[in-house]
Amino acid sequence: MGEFDLIRRFFQRPAAAGVEVGVGDDCAVLVPTPGARWLVSSDMLVEGRHFLSTVDPARLGHKALAVNLSDLAACGATPRGFTLALALPRVDEAWLAAFARGLWALADASAIPLIGGDTTQGPLNLCITVFGEAPPGQALLRSGARAGDEVWVSGELGDARLALEVFRGTVSLPGEAFEQVRRAMELPTPRLALGQALRGIATAALDISDGLLGDLGHLLAASGVGATLDVDAMPRSAVLAQQPAALQRTCLLAGGDDYELVFTAPPGARLPDVGVPLTRIGRIEAEPGLRVVDARGEPVEHGLRSFDHFKT
Ligand code: ADP
Ligand code: MG
Repeated sequence: MGEFDLIRRFFQRPAAAGVEVGVGDDCAVLVPTPGARWLVSSDMLVEGRHFLSTVDPARLGHKALAVNLSDLAACGATPRGFTLALALPRVDEAWLAAFARGLWALADASAIPLIGGDTTQGPLNLCITVFGEAPPGQALLRSGARAGDEVWVSGELGDARLALEVFRGTVSLPGEAFEQVRRAMELPTPRLALGQALRGIATAALDISDGLLGDLGHLLAASGVGATLDVDAMPRSAVLAQQPAALQRTCLLAGGDDYELVFTAPPGARLPDVGVPLTRIGRIEAEPGLRVVDARGEPVEHGLRSFDHFKT
């Protein structure tokens, strides 16, 4: 199968609403909503770096899009389209069919059309760019947190990191528990409805991709504030709650790949109910820096930091 057959077979569909020209021409042509702002983000997934060669290709298709949609969610954007740049070592039709199935399932569930991309031979590498929209002035940014705001997080934290530790061989879990945390790692749910519902309510937001402490640190720096977090208040699965305390803290505070939203809002703000649990985990303060305490208010020494590709 050649490059163009491959694109037609796996990645071309009739143009969707709001897309004047999709896959097949030199550029896609999108129809903007009058007055809206574009929100654009790219995330690359590299074999051996972001995923193992043994990963289920359907789950990889899901995750490649999910991590990108999570950035749109963090900004409160409505998805409008995405491009897919793909380097493949060879044409493996079964692999491509499964990858495309996982990708399209999430794309359809999120109402986001595939509008173009690039396909080349090379070491397995996936780069998606997402395009979204938000009304002027309503994108959720990292810079709006103010002293006195509360810090909230969606869903549960830490399961993806726990799964990574199982793959690394430092932790062992019974089969069903492992399947559960593995799903958290391989099939994250981008919080699109929550992000959109937080427009005009949250003062700042981001999604957790590299670990809560580091990611929240970016928000605090952008907002020029500090925070105190209660590690015992952080939402975790029953599986994680059964692990040793130190491991729980590592997974909660420094685990990457959660793709939950962290946001700030003034006390008493009416938070949206979109069927995703929200948990208050701390408070924004004028004093710079990020402090972690336990349920009794005692400081927690953690020595943790988030994932950084260029630091070991
Ligand atoms: P060009 O050479 O003009 O840049 P290509 O030959 O790379 O275009 O691609 C042909 C068409 O197929 C374009 O519309 C491009 O956006 C689309 N395309 C290529 N690869 C992919 C892919 N992996 N997923 C979706 N669309 C793709
Ligand atoms: Mg061209």
